[in-house]
Amino acid sequence: MTSTDVVLAATKCRSCGDRRFPAKAVCSNCGSGQLDQIPITHGTVDASTRTTTETIVEVTEPGGLRIVGPATEPIVVGDTAVVSLVDGRFTWHTETPREP
Ligand SMILES: [Zn+2]
Repeated sequence: MTSTDVVLAATKCRSCGDRRFPAKAVCSNCGSGQLDQIPITHGTVDASTRTTTETIVEVTEPGGLRIVGPATEPIVVGDTAVVSLVDGRFTWHTETPREP
C-alpha cells in the first residue's frame, strides 16, 4: 500500500462546505452534486465495544466526523487511531505505544 491509496474517504460539498461520512454522491445539505473527496487517515477513539468476534470503535477524525468501524487490538478510548486496509476492509489500529 502506498501513501496515495485512499482507504477511507468522506465528502465535502463545494457549494456549502457540508462534510459527510460515508461519502455521498449528492450533498445532503444543499443538494449539490459538486463534492470533493476527503481522505480520512486518523482520528481519536471515543468509544470501544467488544463483540464476540471483534472490537468496534467509534473514532472522531480531526474535522469532527464520527466513524464507526472494526479495530485491531490493543486499542482503547483516547488512542489515536489510524486507518489501514485489512482483508479488503478498513480497520482502525493504534500506534500508541503500550507497555507489555
Ligand atoms: Zn452542500
